[in-house]
Amino acid sequence: MTKEPSLTVFDGHDSIGGTKLLFEQGEVRLLLDFGTNYQRMGQFYEEYLQPRPSRGLVDYIATGMLPRIRGAYRQDLFPDYDYPKTDEEWPGARPTAVLLTHGHLDHCGGIAFLDPSIPIVSTPMTLALLRSWQETGKSDVSSEITYYGPKAPVESTGRDRGSLPGRLLGADKEAARASRPFSLLGELPSGLGEALKQSPFGAKTKFEPIAPVRARPDFDGVRYRFHGVDHSVYGAAGYLIEADGGTVAYTGDIRFHGERGRDTEGFLSLLEKKSPEVLVVEGTRLLASDQETPPALTSEADVEQNCLRDVLAYEGRLVIADFGPRNVERLKTFERIAHASGRQLVLTPKDAYLLHLLHTVDPSIPDDISPGGMRVLEEPSVGSERAWLRRVQSSDESAFLNPVDVAKSKSRYILCFSFFDCNDLVDLRHTGATEGGLWLYSSSEAHGEEQEFDFVRLQNWIRWAGMHQVGFRYVPDERGGRRLTFDHPEDLGHHASGHATQSELLEFVYRARPKIVVPVHTVQPARRYQELLRSRGSPATVVAPVQGQPIRW
Ligand SMILES: [Zn+2]
Ligand SMILES: [Zn+2]
Repeated sequence: MTKEPSLTVFDGHDSIGGTKLLFEQGEVRLLLDFGTNYQRMGQFYEEYLQPRPSRGLVDYIATGMLPRIRGAYRQDLFPDYDYPKTDEEWPGARPTAVLLTHGHLDHCGGIAFLDPSIPIVSTPMTLALLRSWQETGKSDVSSEITYYGPKAPVESTGRDRGSLPGRLLGADKEAARASRPFSLLGELPSGLGEALKQSPFGAKTKFEPIAPVRARPDFDGVRYRFHGVDHSVYGAAGYLIEADGGTVAYTGDIRFHGERGRDTEGFLSLLEKKSPEVLVVEGTRLLASDQETPPALTSEADVEQNCLRDVLAYEGRLVIADFGPRNVERLKTFERIAHASGRQLVLTPKDAYLLHLLHTVDPSIPDDISPGGMRVLEEPSVGSERAWLRRVQSSDESAFLNPVDVAKSKSRYILCFSFFDCNDLVDLRHTGATEGGLWLYSSSEAHGEEQEFDFVRLQNWIRWAGMHQVGFRYVPDERGGRRLTFDHPEDLGHHASGHATQSELLEFVYRARPKIVVPVHTVQPARRYQELLRSRGSPATVVAPVQGQPIRW
């Protein structure tokens, strides 16, 4: 085995997200992110056609959603019979660890399938975010990022009974569910440690918590560093690996215009000192051509000003703010807007739990569920065994509201919702809470990053509920149809992107002075990046990644 370092891009080089990189040097193999590629997923699957949980890895490998890397995956997800029975023929060897940049699924979704003996290196904030996402979401194999339940062959009860044994996988009834080992970049906050020890399941299910450890500073002598960066989730980091013959750096997703813009500056200062040999850099907002006008830069402060203006204009009526609740920076913005407009935020129980966990890592994150703090919209549940819901329900009872309460004082609240909470509109409309109110869309336009949904459906819900909308709209297109747009003058300024603009990215690369640039998280071709860097005066060579082929330098 050669000691020479290399970098392989397995995914995410021609899409927004799905990033899967592998750094190798000698026996050390570090995965840099291991995300779900929603663009590729959309080529095969949709709402009612999903990979089959009972077939483990089969559907994901067959459709190319997961790359073939020997030793990378959970052995319990290979069915005994049929394709792919084992990974023996695949290239590569077991990854040493995953260096995870942040808690968006386009960077970490694939971790659910990785062998649980591979440690995940992340910030405590990212772990808290992912644990709350997993606990409050659907429970199947594709969500098993922070804990997992081993699978075992189950017998088919269909007509093929016995003829192809070992084809189907189900829960291994003998085995306990267990935490995945996380290695943290920083101390484990005691509150988070306590929360992680709690079983997400009912008393009847065996659960073995594994406490996260402090990440070691090197893997077999290969040292690495991380630095916090600004992005639309807290806890995001970029990495530098001290490889033989120079530094390899990876940005993850970055921006400069958010609350933690200075962190990105700090990461850049580190790069300036090192002048990396290789810089893997995101390119989400690169424009296809020089003719395209760059969108106006909206800062979080602009969002606050514009949304407050709208909320004040809807005095006496209900406001629903639609943003990704994991964007806690935005939640804090809406908390200030609520305060300035004499309203209170109303959360879903899931978001209340999310804030509870994140607060254990950063006490400045609001988690006050009380009559004078944030309120929670009651969710009817029948004999729920779910630990996270019990935790939320143990908050001050008088902080909870039902749809009748909301209707009675609709001018007092801002509901924090997203498309996936639209079922609650049925009851809210029934009580008269929504009539004449405002749906304020304050979220991402780049939907490659998270599960895609249909804005037509969202608009149908809003209209059906008797509400007005701002932040997106449909306008007539040239062919007599209609086109989704976020750029109408009335909609602009309600969302600040999670990503740096084209000119910021070019400035970033120029100042970091890398020899080689490997573009990821972009739909623009490498030659476009090269052209743009040349015009900015950067001498870096842009290498177009070829899936699965090692880049050497
Ligand atoms: Zn991303
Ligand atoms: Zn992201």
